[in-house]
Amino acid sequence: MLNITKTSFKLIIFVFGFFGITESTFSQQRNSWKWGGSMDPLQQKFRVSHYHLDLEILPESQEISGSTTLSVHYLEEMDTLRLDLVSDYNVSEVLGDGYSFSFLHQDDLLDIDLAGQRPDKVTVYYHGKTPIASNPPWLGGFTWEKDSQDNHWMGLSSQNEGGKIFMPCLDHPKNKPDEGVSLSITAPASYTVAANGRLKTMDGDSEKKTFHWESNYPIMNYNINFTMGKFHLEKGVFLGISGEEIPLLAYVLEENKDKAPLLLEVLRKSTETHEHLFGAFPFPKDKIAVVETPYLGMEHQTINAYGNNFQFVRMGEVWYDWLLHHELGHEWFGNKVSVSDWADYWIHEGITSYGDWLFYLKHDGEEAYHEIVANAKKRIKNELPVVSPPESHSDIAYHSDVYTKGAFIMHSLRFMVGDDAFFPMLKAIAKQDAYTYANQASTADLIDYLSKDSDLDIKEFLTWYLYREDLPKVSINKKKKNVFLISLPEISFDLPVEVQTDKGIENMVLSSTPTEVLSTTGVEVDPLGWYLLDK
Ligand SMILES: [Zn+2]
Repeated sequence: MLNITKTSFKLIIFVFGFFGITESTFSQQRNSWKWGGSMDPLQQKFRVSHYHLDLEILPESQEISGSTTLSVHYLEEMDTLRLDLVSDYNVSEVLGDGYSFSFLHQDDLLDIDLAGQRPDKVTVYYHGKTPIASNPPWLGGFTWEKDSQDNHWMGLSSQNEGGKIFMPCLDHPKNKPDEGVSLSITAPASYTVAANGRLKTMDGDSEKKTFHWESNYPIMNYNINFTMGKFHLEKGVFLGISGEEIPLLAYVLEENKDKAPLLLEVLRKSTETHEHLFGAFPFPKDKIAVVETPYLGMEHQTINAYGNNFQFVRMGEVWYDWLLHHELGHEWFGNKVSVSDWADYWIHEGITSYGDWLFYLKHDGEEAYHEIVANAKKRIKNELPVVSPPESHSDIAYHSDVYTKGAFIMHSLRFMVGDDAFFPMLKAIAKQDAYTYANQASTADLIDYLSKDSDLDIKEFLTWYLYREDLPKVSINKKKKNVFLISLPEISFDLPVEVQTDKGIENMVLSSTPTEVLSTTGVEVDPLGWYLLDK
């Protein structure tokens, strides 16, 4: 039997470290590397539907060199095509429809003078030393490492920086390229490059190899990714609940080849669990995959970064890796359901983190679930609303309560509506066409969806907890001997809660109107901790 106390302790240390971001962490980041916010007026005039990266990785000099081709759609009259690309790179040429365009590249912006042309495809040639990640994945960039055999090992992470650190792009979360991405990445011949989508072909000679990857699914800029290393590929097949056979792959350093079969099984079990809770795997035409990275992890679409050193723990009958499970969960919330404003970040991180807790519930039972929830509750700060002001930049919107409080709100909702309603609802969230894949999601969409068929005050409940940092106050007044008046005086909705009395745990509905409760042993509101309350 699993020693859950020991396991939880170990997990808490890791999870705390993972979410232990601070404001000073962000102050080290170059200002222009945050993204989101209000969209640049010049960038509101067009969209990008697809990126093709054709890049060579030069590990000795820590450079990349090549081109990115953007499929551009012009929404209104414009003279300047304004792209984002960090100034670390040198742009040598911009081509489109047979024209060579003049451009200005400064302050991490690439302004292309269209000179009256409207090229459907714009190719930017660039090269240079890559920006280095100072604390990946929180402060991203390129990570150049060596494995124990002195082989090169390169990782790339960009959640808080955006795509501009490796490609010219329209770097705003609103622009999720709906036709996907293709990547032709060249590396020295002995190396493998793992990237998004399916590997279509591979060519090269004794000096260099090029890996041609392609995905036609919509993808956020920060999920576009390539990782280079001397990899062993462990292969399997996953039979999804939709009946499709999906490649199940793990790229690990050759020195970790013996750990790859178990890693693949952990990946299989996490995928099964997510399908059980969140529905069918969203990208069956691509793959389910992880690649070993020289940093902890990131949810790169269909090629999740995995750097947790194979620290699997036993959970009931199965093996579990919290990092792998968390990043994989983002395939549903983050990658399929994506927000267009970082203000709504909790939809990515909160619901995914709740999926982490549900692994405990499914594989180790209710008690283990409540233990992980209670531990997480201690880390909730309640200093900032979960949902940030509209058009927030990544550095403002990304705070630890989007994870823990976002997840806790889902935990409260489970109690509020009951398991028979909650789990089918949870499974259906990521199936709604209105806000999946190319259609992006907002907090308002989620509130509408979660409250639409219920007689409960779900809308009011979610609005309080998502948009306010303070918690509803609990008022308990002793009316007379063994008679108590309980209320939540500030709220304007009804909240179903458990109350501990001398008769055990009783279910009640509390509101701003006091409820009379009889008990000879005092009363406690919400003794099992389903809600965040100011008690
Ligand atoms: Zn996450």
